[in-house]
Amino acid sequence: TDEVTMIHGVLELREKVVADVLTPLEDVFMLSLDHPLDQSTMSLILSRGHSRIPVYDGDRSNIVGMLLVKRLIAVNPADARPIRSISLHPLPAVEPTHDLFSTLNEFQQGRSHMAVVREEIPTFAPAPSSPTLDQSQHPFAEARAALKGGRVTKWARALPPDDDLQHPLLESPPSPSRHWGRVLGIVTLEDVIEELIKEEIEDE
Ligand code: ADP
Repeated sequence: TDEVTMIHGVLELREKVVADVLTPLEDVFMLSLDHPLDQSTMSLILSRGHSRIPVYDGDRSNIVGMLLVKRLIAVNPADARPIRSISLHPLPAVEPTHDLFSTLNEFQQGRSHMAVVREEIPTFAPAPSSPTLDQSQHPFAEARAALKGGRVTKWARALPPDDDLQHPLLESPPSPSRHWGRVLGIVTLEDVIEELIKEEIEDE
């Protein structure tokens, strides 16, 4: 990467959005809350090589937190403890339309280098909290609040008709439980930095 390429990368960061760089949900290596941390799971985790593993409850789109692989150093596989017995790291949510420049700043503020990418349904009702995350507490709450303001985006129309989430304009009154749309995948700091330097980062 030379300097001119990087400068282009920096300038383009405001135009690009999370949807351009996310890892799709079907490609995400994740584990269930009930999964035992036994020898075979440890081997599986090791072979995948990721340092962060989203953890779901029941359904893969119901992500409740993230397992930091470094925490497993202290876990004895012979005990085969379920993942729910380990303290999980909270995973913030970000909309697919969020720009990469803001996303980089939020990652830089710490707390999490990974976020879940969720569609957000514009609603006329006050924003309810998600069933699994305290939205007012999470690191992206402020950015998300700034993004609100009735902007109806392309993805709202792209929802499949049989999806149990409906466009709020078709519903009256809007149901608070339908505020969040589908989970599309995950995004990490590395995904954003690769756009910045315009090159793949080789893992060590
Ligand atoms: P790691 O080095 O732990 O894999 P990075 O944050 O460096 O994580 O991300 C490298 C790439 O792998 C990124 O494209 C990111 O979206 C993807 N990634 C990170 N964690 C996972 C995971 N658990 N499952 C699938 N892809 C992942």
